[in-house]
Amino acid sequence: MDIRKMPDEIHPHLHRVSRSERNALKGHLPLVIWMTGLSGSGKSTIANALEHSLVHQYHCHTYLLDGDNVRSGLNAGLGFTEEDRRENIRRVGEVAKLMFDAGLIVITAFISPFRADRDMVRALFGTGEFWEVYIHCPLATCQERDPKGLYRKALAGELNEFTGITSPYEVPDNAELTLDTEKVSVDTCVDMIIERLLEKNIITRVA
Ligand code: ADP
Repeated sequence: MDIRKMPDEIHPHLHRVSRSERNALKGHLPLVIWMTGLSGSGKSTIANALEHSLVHQYHCHTYLLDGDNVRSGLNAGLGFTEEDRRENIRRVGEVAKLMFDAGLIVITAFISPFRADRDMVRALFGTGEFWEVYIHCPLATCQERDPKGLYRKALAGELNEFTGITSPYEVPDNAELTLDTEKVSVDTCVDMIIERLLEKNIITRVA
């Protein structure tokens, strides 16, 4: 079944409040900043630091979607097979779209290893509304960092289908931004994203 096809008995209401009215109240444009990369590459660290800066320095309305707040609730029950990973990302994409419509700057931190899945989410948005940010870090460095001990477990055979070890990661070929976290500090990565947001007039400097 085409999951996006509406059954005949569903008739969406036209909303009286428009997206542009919501955006005007917020004082910035909505955007989806989709971080992708290997486990341990730095997605959550950068996403958290970015959100902190957007809220406290630029007074933006944001939300950070990551594995913890999605896999324990909305997507509880989904595993890590290719099919479940795709469904995980599809649902996150749909949630991000609702939050985008609400006027938020949505930051997501998911490995999202498959190009087709990331493109499926991109297709939900208009040009310039979805930025794919590739958090690049060599596998060897991610394994050394191993912030959650997951590589150790995967190499010991205790985790199945672990990206980089027993499951592939497809490098983005059309990312809006690539950040090399082996060479560039967290603060500089955040500054690079903020600079791009200012340049594209998504956010403005506050006095
Ligand atoms: P991911 O969310 O991609 O799995 P995490 O953010 O949880 O990765 O972990 C990345 C680890 O790498 C953290 O311990 C972080 O402190 C460290 N780290 C070192 N340098 C950087 C950097 N430049 N950017 C992001 N994280 C970095």
